[in-house]
Amino acid sequence: MTQQPTALPKPKLGEPYLLTPGPLTTSIDVKEAMLRDWGSWDGDFKAMTAELRKGLISLLGDGSEAYDCVPIQGSGTFAVEAMLGSFTPKTKKTLILSNGAYGKRAVETMAYLGRPVEVLDKGDYLPPRGPEVAALLKADPEISHVLIVHCETSSGILNPLQEISDAVAAADRTLLIDSMSAFGSIPVEPSKLQFAAMVSSANKCIEGVPGFGFVIAHRAELEAAKGNSHSISLDVHAQWAHMEKSGQWRFTPPTHVVAAFLEALRAHKAEGGVAARGARYRTNRDAMVSGMRALGFETLLDAEWLSPIIVTFFCPADPAFSFPRFYELMKARGFILYPGKLTVVDSFRVGCIGQMDEHVMRGVTAAASDVLKEMGVESAAPPAEALAERAKLAA
Ligand SMILES: *Cc1c(COP(=O)(O)O)cnc(C)c1O
Repeated sequence: MTQQPTALPKPKLGEPYLLTPGPLTTSIDVKEAMLRDWGSWDGDFKAMTAELRKGLISLLGDGSEAYDCVPIQGSGTFAVEAMLGSFTPKTKKTLILSNGAYGKRAVETMAYLGRPVEVLDKGDYLPPRGPEVAALLKADPEISHVLIVHCETSSGILNPLQEISDAVAAADRTLLIDSMSAFGSIPVEPSKLQFAAMVSSANKCIEGVPGFGFVIAHRAELEAAKGNSHSISLDVHAQWAHMEKSGQWRFTPPTHVVAAFLEALRAHKAEGGVAARGARYRTNRDAMVSGMRALGFETLLDAEWLSPIIVTFFCPADPAFSFPRFYELMKARGFILYPGKLTVVDSFRVGCIGQMDEHVMRGVTAAASDVLKEMGVESAAPPAEALAERAKLAA
């Protein structure tokens, strides 16, 4: 089945669309899958866990046989911490490529773990580039691992994963990927990328509900991670070994979330997999961004860096504009937006992922047009400082 030509069914009458990158708008089928109870020890649930792991690995495409999938209870951050605690060394250094909130959180996580890091800090949204990473790795033989955030959801930048993977592989170091908000809509393929482990969660591009994350790691890395974790509940090796042996999660699994996720995985496959999911999100983004630009809004990032996941817009300079009021008036029209996370200028974000299509996105921009009129905002153009900030990216 290809992309549906008509509008997707509304999530539920009266329920707003979540233009946020998870939790996001899920289908009725996903929600309905949660309407029964499952025994965590039972064979039926073990089969569900096996199906979940297999389904996720298959999204890697060619070369997936070398990898295994380990679900971890909790939100995405728990899975990131599990990956870092299980795969980064205690003595050698990990280079964190930071250009937003999630890169910063990874640095903070490593501080909690007491493990040595080097940080390439690119600020709020500038991308890390291959040559600078290559130079850092060349200069410091103590760096053994590198962490990249695939889509930095705080600005919406799609970081140059292939370029970084190539630089890390050429320097013979180990790559870890936070693909939380990208996996399932943007390829992460071992046939093109060299990575030890990556992490994502249930409530982003696969369009499930929140409750677990998952680490997809090379089997050799999973074997080697024995005894490396700082934490009993976040030990990826232990969770993996237990699942391999018993088919079960070590501690109470989020049974209903798993049932919902399997439904979401089926829908992902029926839509056409990673390529089709990514295509729908790009169409969503393009419809939404062009509508917003027509109103005078400007994106933080140039087209080259805009992810199909979430887009940051500058707040208009017009004094009649206030984001809290804009938010409330958009909500009254059925759309929940997301505040910005930039430190330098005021911004807000609009997500493109979830059970939404271009029709919904055009509804968003039509609502934004009405709301600007209601607020008495004459122009949605950003202040001059915002554009000066953006020029830095081009430089
Ligand atoms: C969502 C997200 C996370 C995890 O966030 P949680 O709120 O813990 O689910 C981590 N990294 C990135 C890039 C994300 O988008």
